[in-house]
Amino acid sequence: VEAQNILSMNSIEVLYDNVLLAIKGVSVQVPKGEMIALLGSNGAGKSTTLKAISGLLKAERGRISRGEIKFEGTDITEMLAQKRVEMGICHVIEGRRVFEHLTPDENLTAAAPMGMSKATLNAEKEKIYSFFPRLAERKNSQAGYLSGGEQQMLAIGRALVTQPSLLMLDEPSLGLAPFLVEEIFGIIKQINQEQGLSVLLVEQNALAALEIVSEGYLIENGRVVMHGAADALKANSDIQEFYLGGG
Ligand code: ATP
Repeated sequence: VEAQNILSMNSIEVLYDNVLLAIKGVSVQVPKGEMIALLGSNGAGKSTTLKAISGLLKAERGRISRGEIKFEGTDITEMLAQKRVEMGICHVIEGRRVFEHLTPDENLTAAAPMGMSKATLNAEKEKIYSFFPRLAERKNSQAGYLSGGEQQMLAIGRALVTQPSLLMLDEPSLGLAPFLVEEIFGIIKQINQEQGLSVLLVEQNALAALEIVSEGYLIENGRVVMHGAADALKANSDIQEFYLGGG
């Protein structure tokens, strides 16, 4: 039902350089307040799906050649990326980009939307520091010297400062030790539960992702090949064999 989905992506096709069909009719729904995962191997089309939603395709000579994306009921398929940010869509791209020469606190300030009051910014920062105590401890050191996990926390913090209603995270677990993945995923889940933030999570680490999301989509070769509740996916023998390292 449309009204209950914060995001509704229908039969989207994406072309890069007008030739490469990277995704071939992908449909994904994010119910309001839920956490949904896009799973699948390298090159399957997960990042492209997020870029189609945030509008970052253009910067990579990609474009939507078919289909429709609705956010809060509004057609955003052709909307400028900046406009989508203003509507509440925030995309944390792969590779945890932060300003390395600034402190975490300055990074959060720099990420604040234009016109946000100082009081609101400070309140947002306090919330972020309460979710990520490690970040609070290091808020005045240079961000470039933070660990990979702390930089990922900061990248998520920079997204939260914009007060999104849909947070999209591309491979937040990449390169992190398992205990850190567990810590960060636990915090994302907590933010989702306490603030009702809708989350679309792209992950190759299916095992970790399926612990925190309610539903998952498995993408292969630019197509959704499986969609279901997290528990059902965890129990699926193909998923176990190919994505959960079991058998
Ligand atoms: P990864 O985890 O490696 O990012 P993915 O599932 O996110 O994998 P995509 O990055 O979406 O996959 O890639 C889907 C397809 O589109 C691949 O064939 C990839 O080579 C191609 N592709 C991705 N970005 C571009 C680009 N900027 N220009 C041309 N082709 C691209």
